[in-house]
Amino acid sequence: MATILVADDDEMFRELVTEILTQGGYSVVRVKDGAEGWEALQKKKIDLAVLDLNMPNMDGLELTRKVRDDAKLRDLPILMLTVRALVEDQVTGYERGADDYLTKPFDSKMLLARVKVLARRSSLGK
Ligand SMILES: [Mg+2]
Repeated sequence: MATILVADDDEMFRELVTEILTQGGYSVVRVKDGAEGWEALQKKKIDLAVLDLNMPNMDGLELTRKVRDDAKLRDLPILMLTVRALVEDQVTGYERGADDYLTKPFDSKMLLARVKVLARRSSLGK
């Protein structure tokens, strides 16, 4: 079973995303900020990450940058979640290494569909 890291400081969204992914057949590791996310990535085998953009301690962009700079983690598929809908923010997200972008509030089926596409593109789908 593929394991997905869910990092969001908003408890409601964290639980919502976890529930959707769990029902979708994925195993989920939940954390409340980027620093905890980075720690989890060192300790556990994570196949894909769903990261909130705005988080205390380390935000989603900073965590993405660290992942892309890391020899072992650089290919990790990353889906960024944000309440911001500005085009510039999405462009920044892609430029910093996010593979896909989803704006809150999102449809649960859309989240699962995007995760499936990312998983298929990576080694997960093979
Ligand atoms: Mg947040």
